[in-house]
Amino acid sequence: MAATARLARSSTVTEIVRDQLRPRLSAIDAGEYPDGVLRALGAAGAFAHHVGDAPDGLLGAVDAMAEAGEACLSTAFCAWCQDALVWYLARAEEAAPRRHLDALAAGERLGGTGLSNPMKALAGIEPLALQGQREGRGYRVRGRLPWVSNLGPGHRFAGIFSLPDGRRVMGLFEAGTETVALSANARFVALEGTGTYTVLVRDAYLADEDVISHDVAAFLPRIRNGFVLLQTGMGIGLARGVAALMRADARGRRDGAFLPLGPDAIEARAAALRERVAVAARSHGAEDRATFLDTLRLRLEVSLLALEAAQAAMLQFGARGYLEGSEPFRRLREAQFVAIVTPSVKHITTELARGV
Ligand SMILES: Cc1cc2nc3c(=O)[nH]c(=O)nc-3n(C[C@H](O)[C@H](O)[C@H](O)COP(=O)(O)OP(=O)(O)OC[C@H]3O[C@@H](n4cnc5c(N)ncnc54)[C@H](O)[C@@H]3O)c2cc1C
Repeated sequence: MAATARLARSSTVTEIVRDQLRPRLSAIDAGEYPDGVLRALGAAGAFAHHVGDAPDGLLGAVDAMAEAGEACLSTAFCAWCQDALVWYLARAEEAAPRRHLDALAAGERLGGTGLSNPMKALAGIEPLALQGQREGRGYRVRGRLPWVSNLGPGHRFAGIFSLPDGRRVMGLFEAGTETVALSANARFVALEGTGTYTVLVRDAYLADEDVISHDVAAFLPRIRNGFVLLQTGMGIGLARGVAALMRADARGRRDGAFLPLGPDAIEARAAALRERVAVAARSHGAEDRATFLDTLRLRLEVSLLALEAAQAAMLQFGARGYLEGSEPFRRLREAQFVAIVTPSVKHITTELARGV
């Protein structure tokens, strides 16, 4: 019964990608936010796999994200933003913020995560961008997050701020209010359709009922493997999508038969990485640094596969791929995002160089 339900769910994701997402690829690449597609994916259960502690919950979320990523990395990244928020909320220390969980897991409400800066802060790469202080039954918070995605007015996102005594708190903020303002001040080479904004937090009040964790130092190690493993759906999906693109191009395949990387090898590497994600996901709760470094290594390999696969498609398509608006070039621009979003290749290699 459970297997049948899972099958029905995943075929629905397939239908959404085919019928609703693929026709909008150019529009999304040009900046259209795939609001309807994301809500449909949520209704199909794509963001709910990892709410509980089912052994394959994380993998279910990764697989759904990968299906979207085969067609469109903007949508896959928005799916990750949503998935990450669901991941933290489901594991929130406090019960109160979990009142938002059902609507977010079902895609009825949308949201994201401003955790790039705290992840880098934790690695000693940059200072924490938000500061708060205790006031009444909550906190007064201020600061600026350069980019947070999957946002729009009324969307929610998780953010972390530091207190004067050095403790750190994670809270759930509502975007697009007077005190949590959104500003669109950049144009990206890809991922324009991801609802990405600068968030200006101007003395916003965060009530205790919206606090996910009063003790981030203890909370972050519990959720960070899942946070990073979820991202692998983006790169695995993109690699598979590129392999399909290369295979469908019969002339290019014939002419490029001796290129170093072809669709069979890309698919084999994607499948092997997915297997490793399946294994790693089972011990996502391990809080030690050695396990986290293993997670980062896996994430790094996914980034490198996405980059190499997209590059392989460019080599196969040649000048046809070099034309403005070409599919291989869209995938190349998208693949670069997999490698620069936190934890970026630069960040991971720094962590790995530091060792355990
Ligand atoms: C389209 C888009 C969407 C995004 N969406 C989100 C989102 O939803 N949520 C979110 O939180 N973030 C988001 N980001 C931010 C993203 O994850 C990165 O944090 C951001 O791109 C900057 O990362 P960077 O590696 O380029 O850092 P940089 O800007 O290069 O570095 C920031 C600071 O850290 C220092 N630094 C960087 N690397 C190292 C290192 N290895 N060792 C020592 N110091 C170092 C730099 O000198 C600099 O002071 C998004 C970015 C983009 C482009």
